[in-house]
Amino acid sequence: MAATVDVPVKVGEKFRAVRLDSPGVVSVDEYERQPLQDGDLLVKIDLCGVCGSDVHWVHATPEAQARINYPMFLGHEWTGTIAELGPGAPRQDVTGQPIGIGDRVWVKRRSCGECIYCAVLRHPEACIGRKPAMDAAGNRRTVPGAGFAPVLHLAGNQDLEVIKVPDHVSARAAVLLEPLTNALVAVERSMQGGAPWAGIGYGPGATVVVQGAGPIGSLIACVARLTGADKIILVGAPKGRLDIVQDVAGVDEVVDIDQVPDWEERVKLVRAMTPSGIGADVVYEAAGVPVAFKEALRMVRRFGSIVEVGHFTPRRPEPFDAFEICSTAATIHGHYGLATQAWVAGVRFLARHAGTFEFEKLVTNLYPLSEFHTALDNMRRGVDIKPGVYPD
Ligand SMILES: [Zn+2]
Ligand SMILES: [Zn+2]
Repeated sequence: MAATVDVPVKVGEKFRAVRLDSPGVVSVDEYERQPLQDGDLLVKIDLCGVCGSDVHWVHATPEAQARINYPMFLGHEWTGTIAELGPGAPRQDVTGQPIGIGDRVWVKRRSCGECIYCAVLRHPEACIGRKPAMDAAGNRRTVPGAGFAPVLHLAGNQDLEVIKVPDHVSARAAVLLEPLTNALVAVERSMQGGAPWAGIGYGPGATVVVQGAGPIGSLIACVARLTGADKIILVGAPKGRLDIVQDVAGVDEVVDIDQVPDWEERVKLVRAMTPSGIGADVVYEAAGVPVAFKEALRMVRRFGSIVEVGHFTPRRPEPFDAFEICSTAATIHGHYGLATQAWVAGVRFLARHAGTFEFEKLVTNLYPLSEFHTALDNMRRGVDIKPGVYPD
C-alpha cells in the first residue's frame, strides 16, 4: 500500500508516554523520539486498552513487585498503523501478505526457534531464548515508550513478526485483540481431552460458566456462544458491565456478585442453573480474584474442566482444599503466553466476526492520554469493561 501517514512525532521531538516508575508510582512524562535503526518499525497509535494486568502491575502485591523490572513503560494492548519502516524491517506479514505504510498491524517479537520450548516441545509461547534488541556494538537498546503514547518505536533485530489487521476492523474493535486472543486460547485449552461426546473437554452443547465480566470473560462468552455452547452463565459485577456482556455475547444467565456477595451462595445458584444441577461442564476463571478459583472448583461438574485465565500476575492466594480437585476429578488448565498462530487466529476471528458481535460496545469509554489515571482507576473499580486511551 503506497499510503502515507502523518507521523505525529518526528525524530528528536518529545512525546508523552506512561511509565510505572516504582511500586505504585505512575508518571506521564515526555521522552525524546529516537531515529529508526535497520530492522525497526514505527507505529502511529490509534488506541491502547487498559488491561487488568496494568492494574495489577501498578497495585502490585510484594510477590508481583519482585517480578517487575522498574521502570516499565505501560501499554501492551495497542492498535495502530505503520508510520515508518527501517530499511530491514519486514515488508510481509507472517502469513505472506504485503505490508507497508498505513496498514493497521499487530507486532510481536519472534520466539528464538532454538530453545527447548521452541525446538523440541513446540511451545514457542514459552520461549526462554528471546534476546533484547541490540545495537551494532552489542549493547542492549532501550527505546522509550509503549502503547500509551502517540507513537510506538519497535526495535527489531530481524525478529519482529507483523500481523496485518484488515481495514474493515475498527480501531475500537482491534484494541481488543490481546484479550480476544487470550479468550480463544482459553476455549481451545478447554477442548483438550478432545472427547466432548464422552463428557471430556469442551464441545458444542456444553454448559459453561464464565467468571468475570471484564474483557477476557466477555470475549470468552462470545467465543463460547459462537462455538456452540448451550448455556452460558456469567458471574461478575457490576450490573452495568453484566448488561453489556449479556447484550454483546448473548449470555443466558447472570449472577451479580454485588447482589450475591457470599461465594457459597453463588455456587448454589450456579449449580441450580446447570442441567440436572450437577455443575458446569467447563468453568473459565477470568475474574483474577483468588476466591474465584475456589468457587470454580465447586461450580464444575465431576470430570469437568476449569481453565484458569484470570491470574496473570501473582496475587495473595486463597486457601482451597486439594481434596476437591480429586473428588471432582476435574481437569485444570492453566494459560500463559501467546504463540504466533494464536495471534493470527485472533486477528482472523476479529475480522470474520466484526459484524457478528458488537465488539466496540466492550470498549466502554475512551480517555485522552492526559486522563490516563482516570482510565486506570475506572478499570480497577470495574466501571469499564475495557477503557481505551487515545493520544491527545
Ligand atoms: Zn492485556
Ligand atoms: Zn525459544
